Amino acid sequence: MKTSENSLPGDSPAFKNPLHVAQVNLPPWEQLESSFRGIFARQYFANNGPLVRELDTAIADTLGVNYAVCVTNGTLAIALLARALELTGDVIVPAFTFPATVQGLLWAGLNPVYCDVDPDTHMLTAALVEPLIDSKTVAVMGVNLWGKVGDISNLETLCSQHGLALIFDSCHAFACGHGKCMVGGAGRGEAFSFHATKVLNAAEGGCITTNDPEMAARLKTMRCFHPSETFATVPLRFNAKMSEAQAALALLSLEQLDANIHANKSRYQAYVSGLKGMPGIRLVEPAEPGNYQYIVICIDRHDFGLSRDALMYVLAGENILCRRHFYPGAHQVVPAKGRLPELPVTELLCQTVMQLPNGQQMALNDVNRVCETIRLIHTQRDYLSQLQGMPE
Ligand SMILES: *Cc1c(COP(=O)(O)O)cnc(C)c1O
Repeated sequence: MKTSENSLPGDSPAFKNPLHVAQVNLPPWEQLESSFRGIFARQYFANNGPLVRELDTAIADTLGVNYAVCVTNGTLAIALLARALELTGDVIVPAFTFPATVQGLLWAGLNPVYCDVDPDTHMLTAALVEPLIDSKTVAVMGVNLWGKVGDISNLETLCSQHGLALIFDSCHAFACGHGKCMVGGAGRGEAFSFHATKVLNAAEGGCITTNDPEMAARLKTMRCFHPSETFATVPLRFNAKMSEAQAALALLSLEQLDANIHANKSRYQAYVSGLKGMPGIRLVEPAEPGNYQYIVICIDRHDFGLSRDALMYVLAGENILCRRHFYPGAHQVVPAKGRLPELPVTELLCQTVMQLPNGQQMALNDVNRVCETIRLIHTQRDYLSQLQGMPE
């Protein structure tokens, strides 16, 4: 809402309609209709159906891993992956992450131990994890945040030295990698989400990828409660089956993946040039290859002249709806057992990081208008900071 409290001078907001941060990439309706006709004709809706099996294979091929096991959503992917380790004890996990990372571990009966993150990458490093390892530690869960690639090989070395299992929440990092090496094959397994806002969209959905045949067999068994789908001996089963409807959307989304990433990358590059030289704003650089789904900036309030929250507030008045990350932080919403360690970097990031809009609905011109608006806000910072109701 543009009000006298939160706006730049001028009558009309920068965008007539709200520009949402997380836009949904949808395939053409006719394609989905035709795919659904197939589901209706087969009368086969769930239980490892033909589309789910096709998707399992297509995802493994896309990511260059041996196995992908599709499930209902990303949180269940994390929970099943963690449970399939058959461990009890502490798991070291970054405090700067989406709460579902930690909730998945808790559902698997594991005890999360928060670790602070690197100020540049926003992720765990082996050097940050090592001092937290003690006799109760059984695993480490890395998060490949913002479509970047974490400190994977050092974490692998550290975990094998200490006999710890290593798993990843790669929900942000589908189709991301480092040179030729794609995210998906590291540690014991990696979890992905196909939530509507992710680069691969199944409305809701997710998968676990792994190169380990035994792990894949376990996960395929665990995702279904029915004895007819038994591929390994497992501790516990669940209904985490992906439906044919989800798989239909995901397969079409997979066909569009390259085009969506290409368009995301053009918008990212427009953001890079639009925000160039802006004091107090640092744009997070994604991996290459990357999915460019997350346009993330860090605001230095001293150099920019306004806090992250004030910038968000004024942008909202201009109909540009951004998102704070992670707000509240996982360490604040999902309590860990025992005393919370000092997490200075996480605390700072939770106050300074925000995500800007990106997605199919946005033209390059829209990106330029967002950048111009941010520039104008910076120019007007002294005026704006004195307005009543402006967040600290
Ligand atoms: C989206 C996301 C999840 C949860 O995935 P859902 O499919 O929404 O359950 C977990 N971790 C991260 C980092 C995510 O971005």
